[in-house]
Amino acid sequence: MSTENTIYGTPVVNGLAYGPVAWVSRFEIPKLDSTIISLDKREDEIQRYTQAAETVSSRLRERSKETVGSASDVLAAQAELSRDPGFKKMVVGAIKKGTPAPVAVVTTTEMFCGMFEKAGGLMAERTTDLNDLCQRVVAELLGEPEPGLPRLSEPSVLFADDLAPADTAGLNPEEILALVTEQGGPTSHTSIIARQLGIPCIVAARQLHEIPQGESVFIDASLGSITTGITPQVARPKVEADLRAREAIRNWSGPARLASGEAVELLANVQDGEGAKKAAAGYAQGVGLFRTELCFLDSAKEPTTSQQADIYSQVFSAFPDKKVVTRTLDAGSDKPISWATLDAEPNPALGVRGLRTTGIDQELFTRQLDAISQAALEHTGKNWVMVPMVSTLTEAKWVAKLIRERNLTAGIMVEVPAVAIMIDQFLAEVDFVSIGTNDLTQYVMAADRMNANLATYTDPWQPAVLTLISRVAKAGQRLGKPVGVCGEAAADPILACVLIGMGVTSLSMAASAIPGVGAQLEQVTKEQCENAAHEILTALDGGDARAKVRKSLGID
Ligand code: PEP
Ligand code: MG
Repeated sequence: MSTENTIYGTPVVNGLAYGPVAWVSRFEIPKLDSTIISLDKREDEIQRYTQAAETVSSRLRERSKETVGSASDVLAAQAELSRDPGFKKMVVGAIKKGTPAPVAVVTTTEMFCGMFEKAGGLMAERTTDLNDLCQRVVAELLGEPEPGLPRLSEPSVLFADDLAPADTAGLNPEEILALVTEQGGPTSHTSIIARQLGIPCIVAARQLHEIPQGESVFIDASLGSITTGITPQVARPKVEADLRAREAIRNWSGPARLASGEAVELLANVQDGEGAKKAAAGYAQGVGLFRTELCFLDSAKEPTTSQQADIYSQVFSAFPDKKVVTRTLDAGSDKPISWATLDAEPNPALGVRGLRTTGIDQELFTRQLDAISQAALEHTGKNWVMVPMVSTLTEAKWVAKLIRERNLTAGIMVEVPAVAIMIDQFLAEVDFVSIGTNDLTQYVMAADRMNANLATYTDPWQPAVLTLISRVAKAGQRLGKPVGVCGEAAADPILACVLIGMGVTSLSMAASAIPGVGAQLEQVTKEQCENAAHEILTALDGGDARAKVRKSLGID
């Protein structure tokens, strides 16, 4: 009889699963032959490369057609990238000089990646896509199987180092029981797609490679545990109970209420009119975070006030008579906008981002407020405006004045620990606050949210983070001002119970997460939430906090 052995990673999407492991095949580019190709064979080599790039591109296009939503868009973008004329020109140029196609692809990729990395921010993130494409094209040129997702003969638990965007986009939730990666973080691309598809997901499971292909594993993604040596007789009833719970999520239809009857406001995080329409078609009771900076990542210059007002109106009109909280530009750091941010900073997450960009151009901020107020004039309930990365009381006073002058309701985000520490004074200056747990966690734990190696620290379950959230919620109750949560923490159904127990007044999340949170809240009373909130204050770390809360809520 085999003994049970458990390893742990960072939970991303809750759920249980039991099944055989299927590893995503890794393709390491071998040492390539760089012997110069004779003049008469160069045209054939160009053909070989063109054919390989086209094959890779058409496979990606095919998979894009079989997929829907943002997953399909990711694949389509990946397919386009593989036919990029600039890239092709450079590869063909190298082959014309006698470089073998695989070597030409690798050196061109390295050159492009160097350029992207220099550009930083979102451009730098594209290097993952480019390296993934390079591997696919080189594998095709060498006659190797396509790297990435394996063809599955039965539903399986997918294991990977980390998933390339193209892999995550091709996932079929019918075949994949759970997704576990050795790298990645809770806000990485893998996590975002897993959340969208509702597949149980764990990231940053450090010893994953100890578990071989085909071994049966039991996954408890809410605990982040991966266990081998469990018999099917023990595992299957647990998984079935979990499937019933997930079925309850599918059947949940809102509005959200606790088992003891109290209503809970569940809102959506959106970034454009289209996303807002989708959220409104689901169970969102409004928008708790409209990330305006994401509307402008690709624009070369600042849109005029009326162009901006049009864009905001599209979001506002998706939620007639409902609340929409518009966040002013959070440009900078991982979201650079050429006309709003500085080019290169040594430490961008601690740099000029959010409200701090007013140090470069103050009127950019007031022009945006004018645009929001122009759009809000035509829509009821759209006067809530909040400002990211506020750090001092002087800033809070200043932004509240500018917002109120335009007949808008003034809020700030609680992302910088300074605000949580002095929350009573900050709340006295504004009408509401919303806690951005992604950044608050990053800054409280001194851990870069983009760094996959720090997932244990960038975990909003960390007791220090929760203690600060509790402090902010209590201050809101005392002063009678709304305290929302709009970071990823709000999308975690169990953590949502804790946040409500602390006294948070609304939760805002990806629209797809709302039913999961709503169905969980329905299972617990206000008193249970309050007790759970009390538990975390004595926890040792994120894992301990999770275990204590689950025990307190009676979830095993
Ligand atoms: C946050 O920091 O939690 C937040 C909601 O803002 P963003 O993720 O856009 O930085
Ligand atoms: Mg933030």
